[in-house]
Amino acid sequence: MLFAMYLPTKVFQASPLLSDEDLEGLASVFAGGGVAAIPTETVYGLAADVFHEGALREVFRVKGRPADNPLIAHVGTLAHLEGLVESPSGLFIRLAERFWPGALTLVAPRSCRVPDLVSGGLATVAVRMPSHPCALQILQRSGPLAAPSANLSGRPSPTAAAHVLDDFAGAIPLIVDGGAANFGIESTVISTVGERAVLLRPGAIAREKIEAFLGMRLEDPKKGGAPLSPGMKYRHYAPKAKVLLVESRQELEALQKEGVYVPPSIGTENLYAELREADRLQKQAIAIHVDAEMLSNEALMNRLEKATS
Ligand code: AMP
Ligand code: MG
Repeated sequence: MLFAMYLPTKVFQASPLLSDEDLEGLASVFAGGGVAAIPTETVYGLAADVFHEGALREVFRVKGRPADNPLIAHVGTLAHLEGLVESPSGLFIRLAERFWPGALTLVAPRSCRVPDLVSGGLATVAVRMPSHPCALQILQRSGPLAAPSANLSGRPSPTAAAHVLDDFAGAIPLIVDGGAANFGIESTVISTVGERAVLLRPGAIAREKIEAFLGMRLEDPKKGGAPLSPGMKYRHYAPKAKVLLVESRQELEALQKEGVYVPPSIGTENLYAELREADRLQKQAIAIHVDAEMLSNEALMNRLEKATS
């Protein structure tokens, strides 16, 4: 389909919210099996109607995402859980009541209505209610949407509409520009299956915050078993430039003199933007100074390790 490659990708500005007309337009795109990139508070998502098989296939195709890597279903109200989650457990409800809308994804037994593409063939489904006002507006109008990060598989996640355009200009019809994603890192993923809280992926909400609320430690996924969060086994979040982690300032300066890209400072809000910046500048490598504060940030270190591996 040659013409599809030359589609100009439309960008809707949300300032800060979408107009009724744009919301209506988006709802009909999703209802018709189309895909669109939408802002969330974590990273931008490539969204499709969670029950539309054709649209889901398009998400996997556009991203180049392996079929066994399941998607997160995004909901705009608790009523949207109907048809997604099979009788939410007490633990699920407690966590949802405390952290939604927000950057916490909960894994639970899935309803039989959930397409296999969403759950990657697992008996569970991952769900979250984002807090970004524009994402909520869209979800409340369009219904639940499956939305993985809006980047080519393996590349750093997009934290601005411009990053989505870098990866998908001409490949998707629509991007909703809701400004910079303020967390800049993906949601924390917790399994609630069997009333046990297991940390599947560290993310925007710190483990300590969830543990303090629950009054207990989060469990680690079983070592050696099948990865409970299939996405964690893939190379991820990596720019084309080689990522070097350095501990000493001297080493950093030496690398900079050799032409390696050295960002001014790194936190979760700008990590992906700086990885992309290294590629934009066509640098062979990016060197990141890792200090004690960064070392204590589990989610940030998890993404840095994946970007270097
Ligand atoms: P992304 O949307 O690209 O940030 O990726 C979603 C993450 O959630 C991936 O790491 C998936 O493996 C994980 N995930 C989605 N659904 C499930 C599920 N049912 N069980 C475990 N992990 C899941
Ligand atoms: Mg992703």
